[in-house]
Amino acid sequence: MYKKLFIPGPTHVRDKILQAQAVPMIGHRAKEYADLQAAVTPKLQKLLYTEQRVYLYASSSTGVMEGAVRQASTKKVLNCICGAFSKRWHQITKANGVPCDAIEVPMGQATTPEAVDEALSKGEYDAITVVLNETSTGLTNPVKEIAALVREKYPDVLILVDAVSGMAGIKIEFDAWGLDVCLAGVQKCFALPPGLTVCAVSDRARERARQVPNHGYYFAYDVMDKKYEAHQTPATPAISLIQALNVQMDDILAEGLENRWQRHKDMAKIVQDWARKYFALYSDERYLSPTVTNVKNTRGISVKDLNAELGKRGAMISNGYGELKEKCFRIAHMGDLTVDDINWLLDQINDILGLG
Ligand SMILES: *Cc1c(COP(=O)(O)O)cnc(C)c1O
Repeated sequence: MYKKLFIPGPTHVRDKILQAQAVPMIGHRAKEYADLQAAVTPKLQKLLYTEQRVYLYASSSTGVMEGAVRQASTKKVLNCICGAFSKRWHQITKANGVPCDAIEVPMGQATTPEAVDEALSKGEYDAITVVLNETSTGLTNPVKEIAALVREKYPDVLILVDAVSGMAGIKIEFDAWGLDVCLAGVQKCFALPPGLTVCAVSDRARERARQVPNHGYYFAYDVMDKKYEAHQTPATPAISLIQALNVQMDDILAEGLENRWQRHKDMAKIVQDWARKYFALYSDERYLSPTVTNVKNTRGISVKDLNAELGKRGAMISNGYGELKEKCFRIAHMGDLTVDDINWLLDQINDILGLG
C-alpha cells in the first residue's frame, strides 16, 4: 500500500512533480538543456537570497559534503558536531585526509557561536562545517549567529553548511549571513525524488578552492565553472530531476517564500504541542526544528508496532536515529506536507495509541 511519508527524507512527492519528470529526454549539450538550467538557477538563487553561484550535482548530499571539505582548507577544518549528521561531516573530512578537529555538544544541544569562537580563537582553522538542521535530534543550529561571529572575527574562515533537511523549508539568507557553501539534496524540503543536490558557493569559497591542491574533480568548483556560464554541467546532469525541480521551484515561489517558511513553523508547532501533551521533546526547546520533531518515547510504546499500524492507514514516520531507536521517534513536517496532513497523522497516532 502507498504510504504518505512523514519521514525526514525522502519526503512525500506530489503527483504533479512525479509527472514533471516524465517529459522527453533532451541532450545535455543541447540548447534545450541550457535553457532549463538557465531557468532554474535564478529561482534557486531567489530561494537562497543569493547572487552567487548555485551548482546542481547529480549526487546525494553526502557526495557534495565530501567535495566541499576537499576544497575548503589549506590549514585545518573545524567540524561542529551536535548529532549524527554533523558527525558524519567530521567522518567525511577525516576520510579525505583533510586535517581537522571536532567540537561536540551532547545530542539535543545546539552548537553555539560562543563554542565556535572559543575553538577558532586558536587560529588553527580556515573553515568550519556546521549542520543547519540536525535531522537526528530535531534541532536547528543558530547558523545565522554563528556566521555573524565568524564573518566579524575570522574573515578568512569559510562557513560550510549542511542544510540538507532545512533548505526550502527554513529561511537561509546565504549572502546576508555570509555563508560560503550551503548544500541540500532535493529529497527533503524540496519534496523531489532523490538524486540531485543543490549547492550555493560563495566567490570566497571558489577562490579558496583554487589554492587547495588535489581537491578532486567531480565536485570541483573550478571544473563546474568551465560550464557554468554556458548553463551546463561538466558531467551529465540529472536531467529528469532538474525538469521536476524547475516545476517545483515555480510552485515554491508561487506559494511565497515567507508563506513556505511559516507553513513549516505552523506544522512544527502542532507536532511540538502534541509531543508536549502526550510525550516529551528531545531537544533543547530554544532550538526546535521547524522541519522535523524528535519525540521522546516517554510512554515506552513500540515505535516499530506504531509504524506498522500507521502503514496500514497509509502513513509512515521514523524511528529514533541510531542509538535513539525506540527511545525516540521522529515526525517530519517538511516539503509539501500541509497542516491538514499533520493533523490527520496525529489523529491516526492518537487513535492507534488510545490517546486524546
Ligand atoms: C539526509 C541528510 C543527509 C544525507 O543526505 P544524502 O542525500 O542521503 O546524502 C545529510 N545531512 C543531513 C542533515 C540530512 O538530513
